[in-house]
Amino acid sequence: MLVLCSHLFDATGTHTLLETLIHRWCSHPGVHKALQGVGGGVRFPRESNRLIELPEDYSTLINQASNFLCPRSGGDKSRAPTLCLVCGCLLCSQSYCCQTEVGGEDVGACTAHTFTCGAGMGLFLRVRESQVLFVAGKTKGCFYPPPYLDDYGETDQGLKRGNPLHLCAERYRKIERLWRQHGIAEVIGHAQEANQTLVAIDWQHL
Ligand SMILES: [Zn+2]
Ligand SMILES: [Zn+2]
Repeated sequence: MLVLCSHLFDATGTHTLLETLIHRWCSHPGVHKALQGVGGGVRFPRESNRLIELPEDYSTLINQASNFLCPRSGGDKSRAPTLCLVCGCLLCSQSYCCQTEVGGEDVGACTAHTFTCGAGMGLFLRVRESQVLFVAGKTKGCFYPPPYLDDYGETDQGLKRGNPLHLCAERYRKIERLWRQHGIAEVIGHAQEANQTLVAIDWQHL
């Protein structure tokens, strides 16, 4: 590709043939249309992908999650409401009611969601546990500290202490950076190497 490009844009050469070609491409009506754009062509600089905005106060998420009904159980509350940090969708995780079949296997709502939202890679916030969940494919995953801290600067994974939690923008940015730089799979790999019990978890059912 690189070689091709250097030939294409080689200013010293006599690429009249290429010049004609480029002219023809650029004057194609389709290009004009795209540039004037209904739905416009690609604009530069493109904005970086971002994770969803999270509320400052964790109790906002708790309230939102406790009002969330399982979409399949006719009005029952979901036991493990889980928020996709990529698109903001709330899912009914870790429950038979919301399992679906992907590639001939039953998978939980989170795993199924990653295939439509993130090409098999996903990051979620398990709201009742105050825990971030990373999943990759059907078999790999790990937990990651949430971007919410109490007044002592501690996370409360499992919500055992119950102190008020507030968003830590810096931690959330770190998670966003990992995701943007395709670092999630690596974090999962390291976590599973360091902690064998993670390997045994049925990630696909979350
Ligand atoms: Zn999503
Ligand atoms: Zn459900």
